[in-house]
Amino acid sequence: MRIYADNAATTKISDSALRAMVECAQKYIGNPSSLHTSGQLAAEELYRCREKMAGLLGANEAREIYFASGGSEADNQAIFSTAYRFKSKGKTHIVSTAFEHHAVLHVLERLEKEGFEVTLVPVNEDGIVKVEDIEKAITDKTCLVTVMAANNEIGTLQPIAQIGKLCREKGVLFHTDAVQAVGHVKINVEEMNIDLLSLSAHKFNGPRGVGALYARRGVILKNLIEGGAQERGKRAGTENLPAIVGMTVALEEAVAKLDAHAEKLITLRDRLIAGLSEIPHSVLNGDKVNRLPSNVNFCFEGIEGESLLLLLDDRGVEASSGSACTSGSLDPSHVLLAIGRPKDVAHGSLRLTLAVENTEEEVDYIIKNTREVVEYLRSISPVWEELEKGEREFIL
Ligand SMILES: *Cc1c(COP(=O)(O)O)cnc(C)c1O
Repeated sequence: MRIYADNAATTKISDSALRAMVECAQKYIGNPSSLHTSGQLAAEELYRCREKMAGLLGANEAREIYFASGGSEADNQAIFSTAYRFKSKGKTHIVSTAFEHHAVLHVLERLEKEGFEVTLVPVNEDGIVKVEDIEKAITDKTCLVTVMAANNEIGTLQPIAQIGKLCREKGVLFHTDAVQAVGHVKINVEEMNIDLLSLSAHKFNGPRGVGALYARRGVILKNLIEGGAQERGKRAGTENLPAIVGMTVALEEAVAKLDAHAEKLITLRDRLIAGLSEIPHSVLNGDKVNRLPSNVNFCFEGIEGESLLLLLDDRGVEASSGSACTSGSLDPSHVLLAIGRPKDVAHGSLRLTLAVENTEEEVDYIIKNTREVVEYLRSISPVWEELEKGEREFIL
């Protein structure tokens, strides 16, 4: 048995998205910038995708959608553009949170080195940012608030609509990294007062290497790549039309099935949470209810996350210890530290992110095998021995 439970890292492309990509590649042979018929047919298809994507996000206009290579690029484009645009006006302060994706945090680190001021507001123990804390952090010099819609490690949903409202009242631009949220929970950029939004197709059963940045009309972007006039002159390069078509089809499908999928996933998720909670000295990371329908994230005391992952993989369970981006480094997850987990505990984390194809039998298999592997690892752990002998105090 192989159970893929790492859908926050990437998802399987849907059959309809894949089919649409192949058909597009065969049908639209022209470059959308070419003036001949083949080129114009491709340009029309590109526009249809832009229009559909805008509609699916609740945007007013097709031209508010800028196609990109994925979530990382969209995050970079949104934050750098806003920072550099407001620099000359003396607005050099950015508000964000301590548990953003590295595509946001590393951009902010670079801006700090360039003289910008960044405030990372803390996150509650339940993994949810308080709107009041964002409000307190905003100053006269703030040009941008960037807060993710759903956390990629612990799945917690952030009060995006309230933060959007606050930013609108304060006259500050609001960007949200909605890579984990789009296609999984309801997002409407107009209703939520979002000025800039990043998304990535491979997180909602679309192809890899394609995404989009929504930028409200009037929000000016910086040229990311110089060259041709593609993407309203903000990102040169011949458009990857098959990938854009695949993304559009995947998002249409995800949005149409959002409620039905969420209902099924929540049942599976809560079964998994209930089962894993029975493991002694364990804790669920992030709010139990206010989280993505697919996300389960636990810490097990006295366990090293990497060993747990490898032994689970041996048994056919594919999971993650945090984000794909941090595994491979020995630092504990910045997300788990942000919600107040001590370093020792944060090392023993397990993220399981389900897909709607998963079954109750698979969930039960994951529970049984996680329990056995945790027991085994504890039985050979010197730390666990100290804990049991009372030479060290249990944290969980
Ligand atoms: C995956 C992810 C990204 C990066 O998206 P890519 O398309 O892989 O560049 C950014 N932010 C969040 C929250 C993510 O989950």
